[in-house]
Amino acid sequence: MSKSTEPEEPGGSAAPTLAPGAPRAPIWAAVSPQEWNDWRWQLMHRLSSAGELRQVIRLTPEEEEGIAAEQHFRIDVTPYFASLMNPDDPTCPIRRQVIPTRRELIGFQAAMVDSLSEEAHSPVPGLVHRYPDRVLMLVTTQCASYCRYCTRSRIVGDPHVQFSRQHYATQIEYIANTPAVRDVLVSGGDPLMLPLPILENLLQRLRDIPHVQVLRIGTRIPIFLPQRIDTEMVAMLRRYHPLWMNVHINHPREMTAEAFAACTRLADAGIPLGCQTVLLAGINDCPNVMKELVHALVRARVRPYYLYQCDLVPGAGHFRTPVGKGIEIIEALRGHTSGFAVPTYVIDAPGGGGKVPIGPQYLISQSDRRVVLRNFEGFITTYSEPEDYAPHDPSRCPACQRRLDEEGQEGVVGLLAGERITIAPEGFERIHQRLTRIRWRPIKKALAEEGEA
Ligand code: SF4
Repeated sequence: MSKSTEPEEPGGSAAPTLAPGAPRAPIWAAVSPQEWNDWRWQLMHRLSSAGELRQVIRLTPEEEEGIAAEQHFRIDVTPYFASLMNPDDPTCPIRRQVIPTRRELIGFQAAMVDSLSEEAHSPVPGLVHRYPDRVLMLVTTQCASYCRYCTRSRIVGDPHVQFSRQHYATQIEYIANTPAVRDVLVSGGDPLMLPLPILENLLQRLRDIPHVQVLRIGTRIPIFLPQRIDTEMVAMLRRYHPLWMNVHINHPREMTAEAFAACTRLADAGIPLGCQTVLLAGINDCPNVMKELVHALVRARVRPYYLYQCDLVPGAGHFRTPVGKGIEIIEALRGHTSGFAVPTYVIDAPGGGGKVPIGPQYLISQSDRRVVLRNFEGFITTYSEPEDYAPHDPSRCPACQRRLDEEGQEGVVGLLAGERITIAPEGFERIHQRLTRIRWRPIKKALAEEGEA
């Protein structure tokens, strides 16, 4: 059964920047290459029970307990991805992402079922309108395999929660009636799990909306099921340019020859590829693992886009790292490798605040004449401010005149532009009216009145 007797490095692997083609676990040794490379065969033979998983890996008591739990998040692993797991090492970074353990059942205080408040930001079911000019359109709850830390575990994988044609119609109607939306991110679940005609119909209807400039797809299919990125899929997608794709990739060992080939097919079709990585304890919380990952990505023409702090969702507590770990990783990347290989580290703000970028500080101090900076080596330098800067004049700038109203979401940009003086938390004015509530009088007048009394 054993594919490797080598112990795993903690949270890492002995893999070079591009892992070789996926091995095959012995139970599938006799499967023909035609079947193995057929995405339908892969989906039909997914592993979902302890009995099936035991045929591929040696389950630990912790894993057995996680699998046996009554209400666990859905388990399904494609044979392709299961073959990447080390059968003898429960710390294997591939295995830990898809096999539950007892620790998944342990709650933590900050956990929230919908930690990003997506439901509260959904004007219609499955459509999240959080930012001024773009929306997130959830089109399916199904994935090829299921990540134990899934942000949308409240709906993903649940066979009773499905988006219908009526939901799609309502979502598209909202987008068509909202001219501010210029960018639609199609996600789920995994949109590439939809039957091709259904996905194409959705992309076509979105493309028919004149103000929708850019379509995006969020997917993990090139990693869980690279066989699905076939010529038919790619030929369909390329008809809907400009179409961008964000692929969820967490570890260099996921970048097998098969995943590399899938990304190549997409990139050759002119689809700009970005990577979204979730920072996961014991899996990729290591600057060197992360450096191997970003190097593998850029070789596959995938731009490292976001490094996410793990969300506060139930079941994901043991995957969380301190925020400082993410900052340390960015510190180890910025300046130490190509700038375009450095993702933006973000916390998706609990409560629906959107992505907040965080990272090391490089600006040490500033005056009106100079800023003091440090570089990645700790070298401290200064940049002198211009003495004759003629400020930009928005009244003479065509782009400023064309700018669309952001309806209360201008934020700090609005403060800098002088459009408002403050941003106050809810209830601020009411709280600060307390002085009038207790009938405040000028002190001189109050003293005088008390003297007369
Ligand atoms: S692929 Fe994405 S949506 Fe599916 S389980 Fe993983 S994180 Fe969740």
